[in-house]
Amino acid sequence: MNEKRLSSQKLLIIGAVILGCYLALILTVASLGQTRLKESQQREIQLKIESYATDLDNFFTSTQEQIDYLAKGKSMQTFFANLAAGMSYKYGLGASLNTLTRDLSNIVLNAKVNEQPIYSNFILTDYAGKVITATEKHHPQMMDVSEYRSISMGKSKFYPVKSRRGVYLKLVRPIQYEYNTVGFLLVDVNNSVIIELATSKEYSDTYSRMILQTDLGDLFIWDSFSDNLGYIRNYLDNSLSFEIPIAKTNFKLKTWVQSLEAKDVFTSRWFVVALAFLSVPVIAGLYYIFKINSTNLVLRTTIAENNKKKLVLEEKNNQLLIEIDKRRELERLLAYQATHDALTGLVNRKVGNELLESELMNAKAHGSQLMIMFIDLDSFKQINDTLGHLAGDKVLRESTKRILSLIDEADILSRFGGDEFLLIKPNLISMEWAREFAKKILDVFSLPFSWGNKEFFISISIGISIYPDDAENSHQLLANADTAMYKVKESGRNAFHFYSAKMNIDLERSLALDSRLRQALTAERLQLYYQPIIDLKTQKIVGAEALMRWHDEQFGFVAPDEFIPLAEKNGLIHQLGEFALNSACLQAAQWQSISPIHISINVSSVQFRYHDKLFELINSALAQSGLPPEKLDIEITESLLFDHDDGVLAMLEKLRSMGTLLTIDDFGTGYSALSYLQKFPFDRLKIDRTFTCNLGREKSDRELVSAIIAMAKALHLHVVAEGIETQEQFEFLAERDCEYGQGYLFMRPIPVDEFTQLLLADQQHDNGHHGV
Ligand code: C2E
Ligand code: CA
Ligand code: CA
Repeated sequence: MNEKRLSSQKLLIIGAVILGCYLALILTVASLGQTRLKESQQREIQLKIESYATDLDNFFTSTQEQIDYLAKGKSMQTFFANLAAGMSYKYGLGASLNTLTRDLSNIVLNAKVNEQPIYSNFILTDYAGKVITATEKHHPQMMDVSEYRSISMGKSKFYPVKSRRGVYLKLVRPIQYEYNTVGFLLVDVNNSVIIELATSKEYSDTYSRMILQTDLGDLFIWDSFSDNLGYIRNYLDNSLSFEIPIAKTNFKLKTWVQSLEAKDVFTSRWFVVALAFLSVPVIAGLYYIFKINSTNLVLRTTIAENNKKKLVLEEKNNQLLIEIDKRRELERLLAYQATHDALTGLVNRKVGNELLESELMNAKAHGSQLMIMFIDLDSFKQINDTLGHLAGDKVLRESTKRILSLIDEADILSRFGGDEFLLIKPNLISMEWAREFAKKILDVFSLPFSWGNKEFFISISIGISIYPDDAENSHQLLANADTAMYKVKESGRNAFHFYSAKMNIDLERSLALDSRLRQALTAERLQLYYQPIIDLKTQKIVGAEALMRWHDEQFGFVAPDEFIPLAEKNGLIHQLGEFALNSACLQAAQWQSISPIHISINVSSVQFRYHDKLFELINSALAQSGLPPEKLDIEITESLLFDHDDGVLAMLEKLRSMGTLLTIDDFGTGYSALSYLQKFPFDRLKIDRTFTCNLGREKSDRELVSAIIAMAKALHLHVVAEGIETQEQFEFLAERDCEYGQGYLFMRPIPVDEFTQLLLADQQHDNGHHGV
């Protein structure tokens, strides 16, 4: 763009320079022509003026000769001779004067050039100046002739005379007689003759001026320079001037002629200059055109550039928009990530809290009820640990799906923790509805989950709290739902609980129990009770299950269902387990002398987290007590099937190879996946007492128990039924070849001494009488 502008400027400069050169050429040529013209004109006029001067010279010479001839002429000489002779007028003198006067008059009349009379007046004076005669009637009596006396003998001379009408020439001739000057002849020369002579070749259309310069002033021949008022126009400076002296006189013929160049418009310098200056507007025009052009160019290029800029801007704009979109997307993503759980797509804890807050405000404003539910996956950690995190992720997604399938649009589900969901239900209709809803959720979790070709079950624990019954603010509402949920966990999971004020008391109690349990351990306030395990065929005591008992000074008797989960939470379970193992093994070793019974010891799945330590513990308990390993039975709950790593399996294999018995406890309560049973080296399967106690009432339970027994047989597992309280139950189980049983029907868990007595009695009975 700049280059274009530059080139147009260059073009302009070049144009101006060319034009300038052209003008200079015109001026030079014109000026040269003018000079030539001037020179030729000058030459021409010079010649002309010279010829005038010659003419005038001739004229003057001839007039002088004429006057000389007259002065020496007969009439003149006669008169002066008569005068000198003293002749009177009456006689000869008067006549001779008349003759002379007549001659003079004849000359005035007849002497002509080009029809113009040369002389106008003849005056003859005597030496003193007294007028003798004149051709005009009125003439002065005396003339001042003193000046003329210096004229040399025999000569005439022109004198300029100043008169009212201007300067004219007077020709003066001294008259000699007898070699004395006796008088003077004065002749006025008509100016018109001179003018006629000097204008014969003149052309009148030229501004010019010609004068005959004399000592007294100028005799004007013509003058077209001066206007009527006599003001000489300012032509003299520019005109050509000539000055030619007339021979034998003091006069000079002076001429000014307007030069031809000035005369004609076409040849005038001013015309050329004007012509030259005409080019100025042309240049200006050109410049203007160029400028407009370049302005247009500038405009065009500006427009083009603007368009270009616009395009660039648009491009930038687009990029910006894209960038903004990207950023928005990113922000949206970040906002999403900040508010949502990536795995399940549910809102996260933070948003869950915020939404609860706002829903609570709504509920308060409308006076409606609001329910919140904590839904916690039971043993989710076990899934993660045994099947890996991918399986865990799938369980979480699947769980989300299952819960979402049950909720309304107004309901809010948020992932509140690792395996914990918060469900907010605005506008709760009734407690009944809540109960039904919780059951539905439990139901969808009764279906198995699958991972690869494996199937497993996951139960959930639901804690429920309701506004405004349970709490006024979100904080308390959440805390209460949490308490209710833990209550479910404590009482065996796979259930729901409404929060009740009692739970808080329970919470306080469990906190108090926590510290009491620690003290109980050191103060050895824990005991083991033993419940006999009976061979259902022979009804003989074949084993004992060690069950822990804690009698606290403050709280009195505390059930293991309460303090064992507490110990699992606070870690005391390891010490509790160690105590149980050592004392049970010692006791069992002592009992061997009475009866070769097995001792069944409950081992928490929490203890298996440190399976190496547990193995050492079992070994040392056996070693210290001297109990043969095959007399030790380890009871493990079903949950361990999931909650294990390969080390656990290896450790169990080692125990098994030592001869130790392994029993799966509480079978059927939740995590049963038959494929797992095969993997583990179990000897026995203990049917949970919840099935046993319903055998009389529930047909389904009878079928289930039958199926479990059949299955156990197929897997070469011995079956133990616990919780046998009635004869009916006992018979049912016995009929189905359930090998072992325990329960209140036979004996409650009893202290060591009692059990020893029982063993002894049993032994005696065995030795003495057979049968129960
Ligand atoms: P569990 O292993 O299922 O133990 C059997 C429970 O059933 C015992 O409850 C026992 O008293 C009870 N029981 C036995 N026969 C009957 C009956 O006919 N009817 C009814 N209703 N109940 C019967 P207990 O002693 O209260 O123990 C509860 C749970 O505490 C045990 O369930 C066991 O899981 C745990 N536990 C007890 N002692 C220990 C221990 O030393 N270590 C560990 N890890 N857990 C223990
Ligand atoms: Ca047990
Ligand atoms: Ca049990």
